[in-house]
Amino acid sequence: MVFIDRMFSEDPGDFGAVLDRHPGIDAVAIIGDDHSVAMKQCPAAIRQAGRAMLAACAARGLPTLVSGPDVSDHPDVYLDAGATAAVSGEVQEVLIEWLDGHRAIEGLHGTRGAGGRRAPMSDLDSLPAPAWNLVDLAAYRSAWEASGAPWELNLSTARGCPYRCNWCAKPTWGRSYAVRSPGRVVEDLVALIDQAKPDGLWFTDDIFALKPGWLAAFHAALDEALGPRPRLPYRCLSRADLLQDEGVVALLAATGCREVWLGAESGSDRILEAMDKDCTVAEVERAVGLLRRHGIGVGLFLQLGYPGESLADVEATASMVRRLAPEGIGISVSYPLPGTVFHERVAATMTDTHWEGSMDNRPLFRAPYREPFYTVAKRLLQHEHAVARAPAAVEALVRSPGRRSLRRVLACAAHGLALPVARRRLRRAARPDPDAVPAVG
Ligand code: SF4
Repeated sequence: MVFIDRMFSEDPGDFGAVLDRHPGIDAVAIIGDDHSVAMKQCPAAIRQAGRAMLAACAARGLPTLVSGPDVSDHPDVYLDAGATAAVSGEVQEVLIEWLDGHRAIEGLHGTRGAGGRRAPMSDLDSLPAPAWNLVDLAAYRSAWEASGAPWELNLSTARGCPYRCNWCAKPTWGRSYAVRSPGRVVEDLVALIDQAKPDGLWFTDDIFALKPGWLAAFHAALDEALGPRPRLPYRCLSRADLLQDEGVVALLAATGCREVWLGAESGSDRILEAMDKDCTVAEVERAVGLLRRHGIGVGLFLQLGYPGESLADVEATASMVRRLAPEGIGISVSYPLPGTVFHERVAATMTDTHWEGSMDNRPLFRAPYREPFYTVAKRLLQHEHAVARAPAAVEALVRSPGRRSLRRVLACAAHGLALPVARRRLRRAARPDPDAVPAVG
């Protein structure tokens, strides 16, 4: 078996040449990352890359199986592009059955498929340890080092999420949830530390440590495996409503957590309610306070343009950023993902189905305001964030003077100058679209 990692490939058209370097290959599985939001959104560039790879396989007469969130949603797109079989749902068991040559396989569309959707695996402990030896870890290390950031590797402990945020697509796992046992995760983690020696980890789970009692057991398993050795710092994703108890946050800190990203989405409870977020701004504020108290940094994902969102709601989001001064923010314009309630709500007004690239950030439907409003709103949030982080930047400069920290302080100052202008521009750009999708409720 040959594992070909396309992470650093600049040119999807070179896949044929890659295949030619491995003449023994007689079948190809193209596996998309089910944890990746970019793969769920599947901007046109990613689809085109998939098609180019399928074309290279077809030109060499190689049977291909393809999987990933976009494949689950649109198997025909990939079958039309030359795939022999397209997986709906989780890939691992299907892949093994396909390679074994079974005739009819549940969850498989294509010449030998039985259709339907593959049910997610419930026992993640039955999976072997990740085969890190197949990955060129040195390439990842150099990429991280070139970026100036500490070298971080990804690890998943769980699959799926049972919550119902109505814009969040779940093409692979639905609303199911399965988690690997803390003992097995610690085994994976210790092997990874020994083999790759990363500076940190990113747990890719939609919600880290969701299962009650899992975090305490993880803490105990780490103590047993590592003893007094330092914990590897990690970052993860969670929900604010799950971080209201100080004991939970203390356990996160004790296990090495250094940053938590929360889907805060909006500074307006009205919008959170319309999204079925089942979380409030007050909960976000409390979670951020507790995380800070335990030395854990915070990143907030923010969303603009949900139906019914007014100028006042966007200003409330800006005010939340100002108050909480998170270490990081991620801003996105609401994206209608197939299979979601949100998609159903806006489908009749959609002007396009996909972004070209993952940084497009433009509304694909009739949002409350026209597109330029969101360009300004995004900039405003970036200015607010930089200004809110200015005291931390100055502190860092005093602590360790240098060009890099000086540049950060100067950047904050530039954002400060731009902020009042952006506020005025936002108000000027706030001309409601009369054909916008109406607010919910
Ligand atoms: S909590 Fe996160 S992963 Fe779960 S439904 Fe909401 S946005 Fe999606």
